[in-house]
Order: sequence, then structure tokens, then C-alpha cells
Amino acid sequence: MFWVDEIADDIIAKYPDQDTFVIRDEKTLSGRVHIGSLRGVVIHGIIAQALRERGKKAEYYFEFNDFDPMDGLPVYLDQDKYKQYMGQPLYTVPSPDPDFKNYPEYFGEEFLSVIKAVGFDPKIIRAKDLYQNGTYNKWIEKVLTHPNEIRQIYKEVSGSEKPDDWYPLQVICEKCGKVGTTKVTGIKGDKVTYKCMPDMVSWAQGCGHEGEINPYDGRSKLPWKVEWAVKWSGLPVTIEGSGKDHNAAGGSHDISVRICKEILEMPVPYNIPYEFFLTGGAKMSSSKGEGATAKAIGELLPPEILRFLMIQKHPKRPIEFNPEGSTVPVLFDQHDKASEQYFASEPEIPDHGRLFHYSQISDAKPVKHYLPRFTRVIFFLQMPHMDAEKEIAEIKGSKLTVEDKEEVAMRIKYGKKWLDSYAPEDFVFEVQEVAPSVDLSQDQKQFLLHIAEAMKGADLKGEDLHAEIHKIRKASPLQPRDAFQAIYLALLGKDSGPQAGWFLEALKKEFVIKRFTELSA
Ligand SMILES: [Zn+2]
Repeated sequence: MFWVDEIADDIIAKYPDQDTFVIRDEKTLSGRVHIGSLRGVVIHGIIAQALRERGKKAEYYFEFNDFDPMDGLPVYLDQDKYKQYMGQPLYTVPSPDPDFKNYPEYFGEEFLSVIKAVGFDPKIIRAKDLYQNGTYNKWIEKVLTHPNEIRQIYKEVSGSEKPDDWYPLQVICEKCGKVGTTKVTGIKGDKVTYKCMPDMVSWAQGCGHEGEINPYDGRSKLPWKVEWAVKWSGLPVTIEGSGKDHNAAGGSHDISVRICKEILEMPVPYNIPYEFFLTGGAKMSSSKGEGATAKAIGELLPPEILRFLMIQKHPKRPIEFNPEGSTVPVLFDQHDKASEQYFASEPEIPDHGRLFHYSQISDAKPVKHYLPRFTRVIFFLQMPHMDAEKEIAEIKGSKLTVEDKEEVAMRIKYGKKWLDSYAPEDFVFEVQEVAPSVDLSQDQKQFLLHIAEAMKGADLKGEDLHAEIHKIRKASPLQPRDAFQAIYLALLGKDSGPQAGWFLEALKKEFVIKRFTELSA
């Protein structure tokens, strides 16, 4: 069974009386969002969809975490301008673009545009609002009345020893506005005493102020593992998955679970632990220091293919994505095969059909249409004087429908982007209008001449031409590698190129004959 169906069925079995499910995910908006963060968003969105398709109500909340302190400076920001904000809650940091309300809104909206493009429309909530509107007040109160028990949970689960004077809370300093630098030193009625520490963290310096403050209504922040349990209890959440890093034994999830149950006395959400989404490739990691941002990958892949990539593997398996090499054409081919399974009357791999179903951006039932192979589109795009749409119609063998044409246009658009960015050498070529000066052996010259002669007769189709080339090669003393190299050198000025028979057929016959004759002289 496809993993989405498996998990959705398991949730319903575990919550037989539940009619409405609350699903939550979040992202701390400390800068450009990495594409890896999209995996969780998509998993949650797909599970919400699967529950709805099973007749349940599913509310999907995505939190813009704008309350964490700024604890790092992304390299693409003006360091001098931004270093003063280190330690402040993110929502108080100005946006790099004045059109956005603040720093986290700017990066959050950028990420949200990718989330929406792949077909999800979660309800956006903000950590700042939930703190400020008092949603968390009663939970903060509970936490403050159980500091010893919370210290004990940390110790038992993760082995981390918190000093006896440690309180699970940080307030926003009334003097300098930082939250990452303060330490609560005691509780006095409905207030806490605190100190803003100059040297508690390496990334921000506190101002040394000492004071007392009512910590409610957004004036304080809980540490992550406690906060997570409070976030579950605040909505309250029924389903929330999380990345591998949080789910290690003795890790943050284990601690949050115990705080949720024992201190807050609330149910723990259904967990969907998921593996990392890893990106690789030299080009990717070196691009302006930003790495593989959701925005960059969202521009490289069409939404449906990106969504397909995100759900193709079970959450328990890591996804390794390197846009260099043949990754992108292979991904398109896998998508197209899944489409075949979806539309097959007797699918061989029903899971692939389900994968295709969940890859759809729109709720409407997909219309079967012609999917031109991505590598072919890439080929036509690089052939001089060729109309990709016309050529694809010829391969299809009938007129293109409206859906076919949309598909072709989309593949041309993203094919061009790929050729301009990550396509490896083997896929990129340019037919040389003037014969390149290349060094060919006598045998290679003879080989080209024989092909030219063979082409002078009746027009040969790609397959026949391919067979003919192989026949000529076998009759010559050349190894296949050297033979095909001669073809590519003569036409492209490089060692490799697209499949030869098909390539020669696509070029003007007279052009090939002239070139091969010229170079064999
Ligand atoms: Zn301060």
C-alpha cells in the first residue's frame, strides 16, 4: 500500500471516534528556507488531503515561527546592518525588503509561495500572535509551577542536567529587547525576576539589565522542547510529524512528549517521523551561499514534479536530490511511468498510481494526455530550426490536444531552465554551423564518408539509420566509442551527444552529407 494511504488508515484506526483532525507544522523563519523544509509541509498537507478523501475534516495549520531569537546571520544579508538584532525575537527584526512587515514575514511569504505552488493552502498562524493573544498563558503558568519536574524530565530523557536555578522560560529584556540573552532567576507572585546576561550565548550580548516582569501575553518565550509541547496543547494538535533530528532517542520529541503528558496533562499528537531531504552537487552548495532554497528548487522544477519528488519515498527513507547529472530527466520519467500506472485499467504497480494521484496539484481528476519524454524535449530545444511542439506531435502520431499542448509548453519552459542551469555536459550540445577543426583518424574519416553515402539514398528513419550506422561501424576497424565520437566531433565539436541515428535523422540530410564529406577529405 502506498505510504500515504497506510498512514491515513492507521490514523483513522487509532482515532476511531475522531471526526476533525488538527494538523500542524512550523518553520522558524531565520532566513531563506531550505528545500528540505518542504518535505514536512508536503507530508502534512498530503495526510490532510488523504483524511479529507476518507470523509474526515482536517484542518492544516502552518506556523510562521517569528518568535525565536535571531541566532545567526545569513551570509546574503548586510552583516553590519543586521548584527545589532542578534538575540532579538525575529518579528522585531526589519525585513530585507521594505514591502514586508518584518524579517520573518519576508522569508515566510517566500516559502509560502512555494507551498501554494505545490498545491497546499494551510492556515497560517504566527508564534508571536499565539504568545501575545494569551493562548499560551495558562500553559506558561503550568510550566512555571513545575520547574523541578521539568528539570527531572530533561535529566531522565536526555541526561542533560539543568542547574537548580534554571527556569524553563526566557523573557524579552525590557531594556534591550533581546530574548536570547535573558535568564529567569526567580518567581515572585505573578512576576518573574530576570537578568539580561552579557555572556550567556556566543551569538548575542545581553545588556546586563536586571528586572522583574509579568511574563504573560507575549513578554516571554519557552525553551524549544517545552514550547513544542505547549504548541501541541494550544491548538490542540492531533497530528504533527517531525524531522529525524527531533526524533532521536532522548531527543527533543521524547522530552516534549513527557512534558505534554505529565506537566500539561494533554494528549500527544500522532507523530510522523520523517527522514532528511538532502541536497547535493557543487553548483547547488556554491550558489551565493544560499544553498538549495525552496525558492530556487521551486523555480527549477514544475510544481507537480516537485510535489512528486517530495512524496515519492516513504517518510522513513531519506531523499537525496542533486539537480546535476541525470536526476531531473529521471524524475520526469518516473513521474510519467507513475502516470501510466494511474491510467492503466490493470496497473502492475498500483502504488505508483496512488503516488501519481497524490502528486496532483488540483483537486480535479487528472485528464489523460500525452507526456513527451523530457530528454526528447531537451533534444528538440537544442536542434536548430526545429519546432518542439510540431516534432512532439509527430512522435505522438496524432494532433496534440489542449492538455497535450499545455504539457509541452510546461516541459519546454522547464527544459530551458534546466539546460541553462544544471544540465550536465552529455545533455547539452550545439550543432556547429561551420565545420569545427577536429582531428580525425583515417578510419574515422572513412566511417563518416560511408555514412554520408548511405544517407544519399532514400530517407532513413531514426531506427533504420541507427542500424545502418552500426552496420558501417562493424565493417570498419573502429571501436564503437571512436566511431560515434567521430559523428559528434564532426557535428558538435565534442566527444558525446544524443543518440546518433535519431540525431542525424533530425538534422537536415544535405547538411549532414556535406559536413561528413567535407571532413573526410
Ligand atoms: Zn537586555
